[in-house]
Amino acid sequence: MDALVRERQEAFLLSLGPLVKKQGVKEALTEVGLRVAGAVAPLDFEVVDSDVPRSVSASNGMVWVTTGLIKRCANEAQLAAVLAHEVAHVTQRFEQLPHLRALRVACRRPLAPALLPDGGAAPIDLNRAVRQGAEAVVAFGHPKEEADADEAALLALAGAGYDPAAYEVLLEALGDKGHDGSRFQGRARRRIELLSATRAEKKLSGGKTPALSKSLRF
Ligand SMILES: [Zn+2]
Repeated sequence: MDALVRERQEAFLLSLGPLVKKQGVKEALTEVGLRVAGAVAPLDFEVVDSDVPRSVSASNGMVWVTTGLIKRCANEAQLAAVLAHEVAHVTQRFEQLPHLRALRVACRRPLAPALLPDGGAAPIDLNRAVRQGAEAVVAFGHPKEEADADEAALLALAGAGYDPAAYEVLLEALGDKGHDGSRFQGRARRRIELLSATRAEKKLSGGKTPALSKSLRF
């Protein structure tokens, strides 16, 4: 990853709060991310010290979650749902910004299929892609993109052996705050309804709701 790009995207994300540097925290979050996403590169998971329950992602694969949101997760399946939703946003950006498709090529292992939009990866110059990616810390929030990311997260959750209903339970607990920021006020109900309908339609049930690892208890 281009150092300058990383710095700029980090500066944006750090406006949420400082990173939690306590030993074992990043590793524990990455482990959950790996379970649900199937791959690490180009993803980079971090915990941000903030009581505001939020999760964000950037085009270079950074997926950051606040301590405030992790505190609201009753189990690992709920946190995995949040991470899967953000990873789905990252891959949406690959698709919407063609020059970012190269980042997908950079994955050493394939991401979970549920989290990837359809379409092939064009062999584009990676350096150019990441440089342009620095301009593309897109604030997502369109209802269609949220619905797509929610559905992808649901499928990834089930695919990883977690209880797919965990995501709805978390959204219910968060209420109108949503986990992506205040602009989703009032939409939480609709999102929960969509998730529940998809779960019924695809007959997704069962799965685990393991406790959060000790490192992720704040
Ligand atoms: Zn979102």
